[in-house]
Amino acid sequence: MTRAHNFCAGPAALPAEVLQRVQSELLDWQGMGASVMELSHRSPEFVDVAERAEQALRRLLGINDDYVVLFQQGGASQQFASVPLNLARADDTVDQVVTGQWSKKALAEGKRHVSVNVASTSEDSNFSTIQSESEWALTEGAAYLHYCPNETIGGLEFNFVPETGAPVIADMSSTILSRPIDVSRFGVIYAGAQKNIGPAGLCLVIVKRDLLGRARAEIPAMLSWKIAADNDSMYNTPPTFAMYLSGLVFDWIEAKGGLIAMQALNEKKASTLYNVIDASGFYSNPVDVRYRSLMNVPFTLADASLDKLFLEEAEAEQLLNLKGHRSVGGMRASIYNAVEQSSVDALCDFMHRFETKYG
Ligand SMILES: *Cc1c(COP(=O)(O)O)cnc(C)c1O
Repeated sequence: MTRAHNFCAGPAALPAEVLQRVQSELLDWQGMGASVMELSHRSPEFVDVAERAEQALRRLLGINDDYVVLFQQGGASQQFASVPLNLARADDTVDQVVTGQWSKKALAEGKRHVSVNVASTSEDSNFSTIQSESEWALTEGAAYLHYCPNETIGGLEFNFVPETGAPVIADMSSTILSRPIDVSRFGVIYAGAQKNIGPAGLCLVIVKRDLLGRARAEIPAMLSWKIAADNDSMYNTPPTFAMYLSGLVFDWIEAKGGLIAMQALNEKKASTLYNVIDASGFYSNPVDVRYRSLMNVPFTLADASLDKLFLEEAEAEQLLNLKGHRSVGGMRASIYNAVEQSSVDALCDFMHRFETKYG
């Protein structure tokens, strides 16, 4: 069996070691004679799985007791509604920063529930840069500021955390666990699992405890962070298999040296790929170099009519899922934690040969 080089933006590559472990205990988890999928979520065995996953995540990110960690469903997209419903009254104003397709989607949902001020947008530059913070139009007394630290589609990543008096809410779906962060700078961090954590459907939500009392009375129970926190993320049946597998990914990251080690690996992969792009007259990346993403690297070919051939020849070499998002075209290589340096090297080698042949 060979594993292809998988550059999918999400659901994305998972560590082979983790999948092998899952395979080995799929039918009989820890001598129970049943799969972990077949256990009650309220059994002491599964409650232990959930607690261990949470503790590992807390160690990795340095999350202290001022924050609750929630395992939610509905993906990151559900949080686009959960954020306003948990944190703002309908007549409050919130600030949202728009730097790409995901923060734009969060804006559209936010507007359904609360009065939104777009504090900054870089849409007129086709989301290739971030407006300087001094130019942002922040609202005095805003209930929160929402932004997306890494835009998965555009490959645009913040190199700073916004400074504002309001709680900062971050959609970290495609950047969480790629490097250390200072959790205390944030009111809420949420992240869909299928980029850098585990299987799709699970969404991690890290909420500062003092924000838990602000939900609207009419919030659906399933969206309420307070209800989730009061029930240890088991108000209803949680996505048990996804939680178990995510816990194994956390263990894998710890065994590799934690987030400082991950950052070094990720920086090396990204610089390998950006260097090939920058050294060539054939490939280009449209993003302001200060804000290039460590995780998602979009690039275009000088001649777009070669796109199809590029993808076909790449696929023949087991370099998969390089097609850019339908909204932006071109190519995109997502190089999350589970994508090895050897996969990036194989991609760069292919890109060289393709350029020599057709460039
Ligand atoms: C993938 C992604 C989402 C959407 O996640 P779903 O689980 O499909 O809802 C939202 N935000 C960002 C930054 C993403 O990368």
